[in-house]
Amino acid sequence: MLPFKLIYSEKYFLPIGEHVFRADKFRLIRERLLQEHVAEESDFLTPEAASEADVLLVHSSHYVNKLMEGSLSAREELQMEIPYSPQVVDAFLLHTGGSILAAERALEDGICVNVGGGFHHAYPDHGEGFCMINDFAVAIRVMQKRGRIRRAMTVDCDVHQGNGTAAIFGGDHTVYTLSIHQENNYPYPKPPSSLDINLADGVGDEEYLQELAQGLDKALGEFTPDLIYYVAGADPYRDDQLGGLKLTREGLERRDRMVFGKARARNVPVAITLAGGYARNVEDTVRIHASTIRIAREFAR
Ligand SMILES: [Zn+2]
Repeated sequence: MLPFKLIYSEKYFLPIGEHVFRADKFRLIRERLLQEHVAEESDFLTPEAASEADVLLVHSSHYVNKLMEGSLSAREELQMEIPYSPQVVDAFLLHTGGSILAAERALEDGICVNVGGGFHHAYPDHGEGFCMINDFAVAIRVMQKRGRIRRAMTVDCDVHQGNGTAAIFGGDHTVYTLSIHQENNYPYPKPPSSLDINLADGVGDEEYLQELAQGLDKALGEFTPDLIYYVAGADPYRDDQLGGLKLTREGLERRDRMVFGKARARNVPVAITLAGGYARNVEDTVRIHASTIRIAREFAR
């Protein structure tokens, strides 16, 4: 049995058809964790969908209405890069509920993983880049509203910059946003995070880890969060179809260990969300996400 909970629902599956974003990865990760005896059935909690009121803490009522009524323009749907349907909205609300529950449980158990979420390209007033609702931004706002935390930090290690998150929390001194990403890649433009680490094409393990260590030390030196939301994208992997960095699987494991280790050293709870992962072989993506959960276990209290 794991010393923390995993949040998952079979309804995390996004009905988006043939897509570079493999929406079956959530189920495959769960199966791998069970197969490898990293987790057992009782480690999983099923989330409830986020309420509209929760989503409105981050997103504009104009945008939320369009999602609920199905009145996005063709251009808005194109920008999302996934097909709209009420079922897709329901799935995003569930991922968001999962990230809220993960934040809640992380504050109790020290660590919690949402085996989903990480939709960091969603802005207050629009979605883009496969992201409709910024699940973990909503989770942070819900925790603040419930008085569970005052200050949060996002540590976004997806290969793509966390543009939506940066836009949501820009100018808010209660949330520190760190993003480490490939500079010459989507998104354009990149609204400034509290700390952006822009990496050149083809950066590998050693340079990445050195930059991340410096960034985390700087961030945690100038800001003391009550909660870290770790956006553990699998797409800095060298065989990713949408990424241009060259991290190995071992490098990604060292990355996870570094984030958990620095948080643990300061006694800051960590909630984890998955974000991107588009390896040529879906098994690689699944293995990388599953190993984040295996490594989290090393840092449980
Ligand atoms: Zn990504």
